[in-house]
Amino acid sequence: LILLCSTSLGSAKHMKYKDPTLPVDVRVHDLLKRMTLAEKIGQMTQIERKYASADVMKNYFIGSLLSGGGSVPRPQASAADWVNMINDFQKGCLATRLGIPMIYGIDAVHGNNNVYGATIFPHNIGLGATRDPVLVKRIGAATALEVRATGIPYAFAPCIAVCRDPRWGRCYESYSEDHRIVQAMTEIIPGLQGDVPANYNKSYPYVAGKNNVAACAKHFVGDGGTHNGINENNTLIDYRGLLRIHMAAYYDAVMKGVSTVMVSYSSWNGVRMHANRKLVTGFLKNELKFKGFVISDWQGIDRITTPPGANYTYSVQAGVNAGIDMIMVPQNYVEFINDLTLLVNKNVIPMSRIDDAVRRILRVKFIMGLFENPLADLSLADQLGKKEHRELAREAVRKSLVLLKNGKSKNKPMLPLSKNTPKILVAGSHADNLGYQCGGWTIEWLGASGNITIGTTILDAIKATVNPTTNVVYSENPDASFIKGNKFSYAIVVVGEPPYSETSGDSSNLTIPDPGPSTIQTVCGAVKCVVVIISGRPVVIQPYIASIDALVAAWLPGTEGQGVVDVLFGDYGFTGKLPRTWFKSADQLPMNVGDKHYDPLFPFGFGLTTNPTNTS
Ligand code: BGC
Repeated sequence: LILLCSTSLGSAKHMKYKDPTLPVDVRVHDLLKRMTLAEKIGQMTQIERKYASADVMKNYFIGSLLSGGGSVPRPQASAADWVNMINDFQKGCLATRLGIPMIYGIDAVHGNNNVYGATIFPHNIGLGATRDPVLVKRIGAATALEVRATGIPYAFAPCIAVCRDPRWGRCYESYSEDHRIVQAMTEIIPGLQGDVPANYNKSYPYVAGKNNVAACAKHFVGDGGTHNGINENNTLIDYRGLLRIHMAAYYDAVMKGVSTVMVSYSSWNGVRMHANRKLVTGFLKNELKFKGFVISDWQGIDRITTPPGANYTYSVQAGVNAGIDMIMVPQNYVEFINDLTLLVNKNVIPMSRIDDAVRRILRVKFIMGLFENPLADLSLADQLGKKEHRELAREAVRKSLVLLKNGKSKNKPMLPLSKNTPKILVAGSHADNLGYQCGGWTIEWLGASGNITIGTTILDAIKATVNPTTNVVYSENPDASFIKGNKFSYAIVVVGEPPYSETSGDSSNLTIPDPGPSTIQTVCGAVKCVVVIISGRPVVIQPYIASIDALVAAWLPGTEGQGVVDVLFGDYGFTGKLPRTWFKSADQLPMNVGDKHYDPLFPFGFGLTTNPTNTS
C-alpha cells in the first residue's frame, strides 16, 4: 500500500502533460494515455452555450462550447459579461480529474460580429474586391484582438468557399469566384493566428498566443459549387475540378498553420461531405498532412443521409469514421455520447480513430496555451470596437468599392462628387440603415435592420463630409414631384439586398427587392444620380442602367459607412475590382470567368478608377 501511494504521488508530481517546457506532442501523448473513453468522447463534443452549465461541462467532460449565430449571454453584452460567462463554464472543466480546458468558439466572420460595439469589417466579397491580402491579414489580426477582448480563443473563420453561383445565399462569405483570389486571401489566417515562425513544422496548427485565436477554414469542401447555388446541395464536379477550384485554398490554409477545418453540409457527387472519408481523412489528413482538428458543421452529422431503416447511430458512425474529430452541436449530445461510446465498445469505431481525434484537439489546445491560461481576463477588453480597428475597416471599405459606371458619356464623369453643392438628395432603403450595411452574421444570425450596433451609416457620413453650407435632404423613397419641386444638384441613391444568411439568402432571380428598383427609376429619372448598391453579390441592374449616371458596388461594407463616402467625394480614388462576374440576367447563371459562353454585363476584374481630388 505504501508503495502504491508513493508511486501515485510520484507520478502526480511528474504529470508530463502539465509541464509547458515539454514538446507539445509529448504532452499530448502523456495526457491521452491517462484518459478514459468518457473523457475522450467528451473532448470530441461541442455544445451550444445555451445548453451548457459548469455541471454539464464537468459531468460530460465537454471539450468545447460555441455561440451559434447570434447566441449571446444577453443583448448588448459587455466584454465582462462574455468573460464571466466563459470562465464559469471553464471552471466546470477545470474541476474534472484531469482538468482539461474547453475551447470556446464563435462565428467571427467579419469582425467579432455577434458582439455589440465590435468593429464590423466588410464581408469577404468586398475584401475580394480589394485584391489586397496584406490588408486582409491586418483585418485578421484586428479581429483576433476583438474576439479575445470577449475572452474567446477560437473563430469559425475564414470561409474559403469559391462561390461559383451568386444565387447561393452564402456568396458574400466567399472572397471570389476565382480560386486564386481565395488562395491569396488565406493571409487572413496568419492574421488571426499570428505568423508561423520560420522552420515551423508545415501543416502543423499554430496560434501565437493570447492576442491571437485559432482559425477555422470552412466549409470543406466544394460548398461554393453546389448545383444552382442551392445551399447545402450537391456539388457535381470531377475530382480534378474539385481539387483545382475548391481544394486549392485548403492547401494554402494548411500550409499557413490553420488550426481547424470545418466540414461542409454539402455533398460531392452525391456523397455527404460529413460522411466522406476519402476527402476528410484521405485527402485532408493524409495527403495534405493537416495536423489540426476537423470539426463538423452545426448538427452536420445529423444530416448524413442514412440508408433506409438506419438510425442516428449510423450517422455518428459514418461521421466519426469519415474523420471528423469534434462534433459541433449533435442534436442531442447525450444521445451522441451514448451512441459513440457504444460504437467504440463494439469496435465499430476503432479506438485508434478516437485517439486520433482527441490527439488533434489536445494538440491545438496545448499549442495555443489553453492549459497554461485556461481562464480569460479583461486585459484586452479595450480592443473591442477601438478607433484603430474602425480606421482599418474604413480603409477596407474604401478599397472594396467597385466603380461600374461613371457618367453617361466618357468625357463627363460624375464622380468624384463635389462637397460644395447647395442641395443634395439622399434616397433609398439602404442609405440610413446600419443593419442593412452590415448584412447577415451581424448581431443576429440573419442580420437585422436599423440601429443594431455602433457605427456610421452612409447618410451620417455624407452629412459629416459635405460643406456645412450644403443642404442634405434625406427621403427614403421620394416621388417625382418632390424631386422636381426641389433644386437638387444631384442625388445619391443607396439600395440593395436586405440582410440574410445561409439558406434564407438563396435566390433564383437576384433582383433588388422593392421598392429599390422604383427608387432608382424615380430618382434617376428626375435628377442626376449615383446609385450605390449594398448587396452580398451582383444583382440584376441591367434594366435600369441607362438611367443611372454613376454606379458603385459597395457589397456589405459593415459599420464604417464613412469609407463609402470618402471615395464618393474624392478624398480617395476608386481602386476595387470585381471579384465576381456581374451577369446581365439570372438565367445566364452559372457564369464564371473562363466559361465558353461568357457574356457578362461587367466582366470579372472590371472596375473604373478615379483620382483623389482636393475639391472642397
Ligand atoms: C454554418 C457555419 C457556422 C456554424 C456555427 C452553421 O450553420 O454553416 O458556417 O460556423 O453554423 O454557427
